[in-house]
Amino acid sequence: MQIFTSWVVPALLGIFCLPAFAGVAPAFSTRDLVLADTDSDFGGYYLDIERTVERLQVSRLQAHEIQKLMRDELELLSGSPSVLEQAPYLSQALANSVDAVVSRGVSPSGYRPMRFRQGEFVIVFDLDETLLTHWYRHGKGVGINRKGSLSLAVRDVVPSFVDRATGDSLDQPKLTISGSMVQLRPGIGQMAKRLAAIPGFRGFVLFTAKEDRSAEALISEWRKQDASFFRHVKGVFARNHLRIGQGLKKPSKDLRIFDETLQHALLLDDNESRVMQQELCFAIPKFNADAYLDALGPDKPASAAAVLAANTGILPYAAAAVAACAKASRGGDGAASIARCWADGLGNAAGTPDAELKAYEAHLKRRGVRLDGIDLHSVFHQPFEFEFTRPLQGVFPKFKGSKRVSEVPVGG
Ligand SMILES: [Mg+2]
Repeated sequence: MQIFTSWVVPALLGIFCLPAFAGVAPAFSTRDLVLADTDSDFGGYYLDIERTVERLQVSRLQAHEIQKLMRDELELLSGSPSVLEQAPYLSQALANSVDAVVSRGVSPSGYRPMRFRQGEFVIVFDLDETLLTHWYRHGKGVGINRKGSLSLAVRDVVPSFVDRATGDSLDQPKLTISGSMVQLRPGIGQMAKRLAAIPGFRGFVLFTAKEDRSAEALISEWRKQDASFFRHVKGVFARNHLRIGQGLKKPSKDLRIFDETLQHALLLDDNESRVMQQELCFAIPKFNADAYLDALGPDKPASAAAVLAANTGILPYAAAAVAACAKASRGGDGAASIARCWADGLGNAAGTPDAELKAYEAHLKRRGVRLDGIDLHSVFHQPFEFEFTRPLQGVFPKFKGSKRVSEVPVGG
């Protein structure tokens, strides 16, 4: 596949290259702006963001918005995640997206550019395993009808590579539709209140590597249920806003979308491998909704009280750490100072999971929380039984109506 696309894709790009775009935007050619990623789980067409900014004379935010609309349209028109199948639609999708963003001011993220003064910042949150767990489940239904769980009426289409009845691997993935469960991490409200009170706070941004329509459906439901949190949310970004190029090994979040100077944006994320500015990422232990819900359920383990205490304390703890670092870093170089303070506080500049958990465990002990010998790794870092080895294939009309699956993680 990779060898084949290495010459076919450029050839197709040549054929469908636009000689010029005769709208408000300056002339451009598809060949100049587009990069094809055929070698990662999040493949497809991405923009060369720097070249797009330069050629179209748009902001970095606008370049990412153009790419998001282009990728949305390519998926819809081709019904496929394959760059080969998307190639015939590429020029048209790009032209339409440029027109929407440049000429009509369309902003799919809803984010409006901010001018920051010294000491001001936005806080960017990852979703999966940071603020929530989103999964598909039938059968025993962990979380369903249990106190503390939140069932959102989100529907999505996901491929399954495992026969849920037998656990055997399938030669061909089945694309399936499932009702899904979303468990929000406990303490989001308390965390949001604490963060919003920090001097210089300008708002939250949600930025997930989750497939766009899945993210949009989830957030649409969540927004209805938690207006006070969403009062602070200034924009929503998902997989089609990630970027490639610039030496990145895989599609990643680029915080320069929000602030070119990188002094005014911080990220809380359980997984820094999809983050371009890892030095600005506050690594946070993964949320394991199964362990949390089991501790709330009727057959709760002996360690339930400790598991619940560890789960309910983590987001307020993270918020307090950000607040303390923001205070200690006043007069420094903005977000970088805050992030360095966070890493130093963990006793490990890399912010590894071990360092995170050791620091958090010490915090809980200082607060008099009895951990009864539980291993925080099992509380926070083992969220799923199944892992995807191939790309999520998105929401394509031709797959509607297929069978349900259970227990499928959809995170990013
Ligand atoms: Mg995540």
